[in-house]
Amino acid sequence: MLITLCCGFASCNKDENVLVMATNAAFPPYEYLEGDKFVGIDVEIAQAIADKLGMELVIEDMEFNSIISYVNANDNAFGMAGMTVTEDRKKTVDFTTSYAKGIQSVIVKADSDIKSIDDLAGKKIGVQLSTTGDIYATDDFGTERVSQYSKGNEAVAALLGGDIDCVIIDNEPAKAFVAANKGLKILETEYAVEDYAAAISKENKQLQEDFNKALKELKDSGKVAEIIEKYIPSEATDKK
Ligand code: GLN
Repeated sequence: MLITLCCGFASCNKDENVLVMATNAAFPPYEYLEGDKFVGIDVEIAQAIADKLGMELVIEDMEFNSIISYVNANDNAFGMAGMTVTEDRKKTVDFTTSYAKGIQSVIVKADSDIKSIDDLAGKKIGVQLSTTGDIYATDDFGTERVSQYSKGNEAVAALLGGDIDCVIIDNEPAKAFVAANKGLKILETEYAVEDYAAAISKENKQLQEDFNKALKELKDSGKVAEIIEKYIPSEATDKK
């Protein structure tokens, strides 16, 4: 029998020594697939946290809007998916301390007449379902102007195909999508600035405490900055 040495974290004592990360692995550079391997900033931070807790990390890939209900239905699960802390989400789930900043950006075609956020009125806006981009755009411009896609790359494909005029999505995935497709650009104006954190069931205070303690150690040791730097070179200093 394998004996795992624990390190003062109460979660180590659970019978089930598995920590599940619920995510949507279509969100580079935070979580995506390289072949059949999950990689990205969130994946590496989650692995480092699981290592500190002496637990085995298992990744469950799902739709973004299933993550909170999954976390609430499963012990030993947390959601980590470039997820923004919002007051509304806080009603159903707790958030850990934040580990990165997010920005909602606007992707347009390179020759678009949309030059700033002010030009979005009357345009067809694509978003990823249930993300903050979706929530803010629906509030600001109305449901009839907003097309919801289950994955960011589907929204980008709709933009390339001319079905919509822009995509509102987090800045780092936006950069990855623009780099992977010709003829797109990101507006310089930021639509919103937000904090990313992991989501944990309100019933799971012990895991939240252990997660925050491990995350703090990883931030203090420079490990979080190192992971961010690996995926977003030279921007780690802007992150928490
Ligand atoms: N940061 C956005 C949100 O939390 C998008 C996250 C995502 O699509 N993975 O709503």
